[in-house]
Amino acid sequence: MSQREEFQRTIGYGEAAIGQLRRNEIPAYPRNYELWYTYCAGFNHALNKAVNDILRARGHINTDEVHEIYSQFLAPSRLGDRIEEVGSRLSDEINEVVGAVEQTISANARYCESLSESTSELLSTTDQKRVLSIVQNLITSTRSSEATNRLLEAQLADSRKQIADLQESLDAIRFESLTDELTTLANRKHFDQSIERAVANSRDSDETFSLLITDIDHFKTFNDTYGHQTGDQVLRLVGLAVKQNVKGQDIACRYGGEEFAIILPRTGLDHARTVADHIRIAVMSKELVKRSTGENLGYITISIGVSTWKPSDTVASVIERADASLYLAKRNGRNRVCTERDLAVMERRKETGRGAA
Ligand code: GH3
Ligand code: MG
Ligand code: MG
Repeated sequence: MSQREEFQRTIGYGEAAIGQLRRNEIPAYPRNYELWYTYCAGFNHALNKAVNDILRARGHINTDEVHEIYSQFLAPSRLGDRIEEVGSRLSDEINEVVGAVEQTISANARYCESLSESTSELLSTTDQKRVLSIVQNLITSTRSSEATNRLLEAQLADSRKQIADLQESLDAIRFESLTDELTTLANRKHFDQSIERAVANSRDSDETFSLLITDIDHFKTFNDTYGHQTGDQVLRLVGLAVKQNVKGQDIACRYGGEEFAIILPRTGLDHARTVADHIRIAVMSKELVKRSTGENLGYITISIGVSTWKPSDTVASVIERADASLYLAKRNGRNRVCTERDLAVMERRKETGRGAA
């Protein structure tokens, strides 16, 4: 789909969404608009069914119903909303634990008081009946204190379980916030954190690491010819080729739109170049077939730039050399891997006046 077609299609959904907001007299806040845009684009069938059920029954829908449908069908996929929900459940849980502990503390204080009262009474009385009644009271308050403590124990055990569940939800949210949805590789945020860590680690330990940056060749033409959605499928495929050619400690990320970055810990330039070539060959070997029509789309290639950490490096300089190597690979004809060594060779050639590669 061309940019023009995409513009017209999405503007159409937008106008229809505004029309629905008007018709139902619902304020055009971003979330209400998002719900109607989703409805008009028709890519969430369950949401459309819920809206249609109400419209069929009454002919219009009110703001409360819109909020209800939003929280049922759209909010669960919003990270911010889920963080808020986990946060508020955690705070409820903490309040409950604090409340239970406070109650137990005051119950225990009352028990201690009655113990000391009974002790002094026992010491000052000789009346057998009175002694019996004091002992009876002591037994009752001891049992009640035992019950309160058992209740607290049960509540704490339940809270421990609830908090473990919340911990799991937080881990899932954290994982998701660092993952790219389209390719399921790590996202840019994860890359930024990882490269900082890799540089800091190499400074401390003298262990080296390498960085690969990949870029799809002539991808704009591909998108213009076959549409953005098919382009996205290709991005998934390149992501898969990257994933299949890296191992355990390597960190593969979607760096930008059609660019991937891979950090290879404890890996020198030659080995990194081999990994890059495996990725490049894996991508160019895959024949692209459009799933919906079976149409053969030929092959796609990628270019890769490689740099390796050296002691004088910063995060920026190590990325810069991978980027410059990628640029060299593009200039040298694409579908190739260039490393910072190729860059140095080219620089020397320039200096000695023999021209660039
Ligand atoms: P080159 O060989 O020089 O890299 O040519 P190119 O056309 O690939 O140029 P460039 O790397 O500047 O291309 C960026 C293009 O990638 C623009 C856009 O069409 C496409 N692109 C970027 N992000 C996405 C995305 O998320 N999905 C899709 N389908 N295409 C994207
Ligand atoms: Mg690019
Ligand atoms: Mg490109």
